[in-house]
Amino acid sequence: MEHLSKSQALEILKNLIAIKSVNDHEKTVATYLQKLLAQYDIKSEIKPIRGDRANLIAEIGQGKPVLGISGHMDVVSPGKLEDWNSNPFEMTEKDGMLYGRGITDMKSGLAAIVITMINLHAQDLPKKGTIRLMATMGEEVGEEGSSYFLKDGSMKDVDGLVIAEPSGYNIGYAEKGSMDIKFISKGKASHSSMPENGYNAIDALMNLLIEANTTFRDDQIKGDSIGPLVFNTTLIKGGTQVNSIPDYAEAEANVRTIPEYDNQKVIATLHNLIKKYNDQGAQISTDIYMNEGPVLMSPKNPLITPTKKLMEKYTTETVHVAPISAVTDASNLVQNKPIEFPFIVAGPGNNTPHQINENLDKQMYFNFIDIYEKLFIDFLEK
Ligand SMILES: [Zn+2]
Repeated sequence: MEHLSKSQALEILKNLIAIKSVNDHEKTVATYLQKLLAQYDIKSEIKPIRGDRANLIAEIGQGKPVLGISGHMDVVSPGKLEDWNSNPFEMTEKDGMLYGRGITDMKSGLAAIVITMINLHAQDLPKKGTIRLMATMGEEVGEEGSSYFLKDGSMKDVDGLVIAEPSGYNIGYAEKGSMDIKFISKGKASHSSMPENGYNAIDALMNLLIEANTTFRDDQIKGDSIGPLVFNTTLIKGGTQVNSIPDYAEAEANVRTIPEYDNQKVIATLHNLIKKYNDQGAQISTDIYMNEGPVLMSPKNPLITPTKKLMEKYTTETVHVAPISAVTDASNLVQNKPIEFPFIVAGPGNNTPHQINENLDKQMYFNFIDIYEKLFIDFLEK
């Protein structure tokens, strides 16, 4: 056996789609992959997190350099099943397209990197260096799984990283960060005819949010590398009845951060704003419950050109090298790496992630298995 056949590759993808790893059950995926890898003499380790949730790590080859390859094992909810033309957990093929939840984001990418490992190992490759698979849990909700790989040192000796998130025949090298912040404003209730006896929790929160909008939407915030900082209040509630001064209000905001104005800076700015209102009598506090930093690697890093050349064999369209709009596990995995660190987001897929009738061109799936094989060896043996 030198290469898995197309039907074997499809079978693996079908089996992955059938595992309902909707924000859970990544351990079932990991166990499936562990058994698959073991069939081809590749050892792997399941790293339990809790319940049926786990990461998976596996290696082939040895020594330096080390190429990290990564994909997440979770998917988002399919939504209403009756909106789909087919069962989202049963991979379906029609007119050369494959359908199923996670087919684009990103069980095809995960399958493709795992199959590439199997194909390389069967040829006794790589002759030089190590390929380390890091399959993650909990990517779709705050990139939890990759935070353990960062903490346990799995990235320390890694010399380059490929994340197989869906890019199609395009390459990502940068992404905005993301923060979810809850604001809690406490006041003092009183009858609405006597506001001087109370403290209006909504007023304080509203003023803060309006000032935050002005501050974070300032054109002076330069976003040359990956566009502007984005701040939006997305949820708000407060008060109990129309004739009472509210003693409680809360709001939530999502911030998309950029290297020029990163998460730490957003936190510092918010704390200053909150302090101003609290000094005037408000009682506002925050809970930052999701905090993923921006990623910016050089668009000239050493993985870009070889990937572009390989992709150009399979498409007549321009291969774009650009920042991506989504947050990926890179926000954890490339932390502390220098800007010239070889890093790309490149994987099979299109613009249907998280949508009903999520799909993928079948040939693109096969092509990526080919692209990865050549790319990984090129990187390690150069
Ligand atoms: Zn994804």
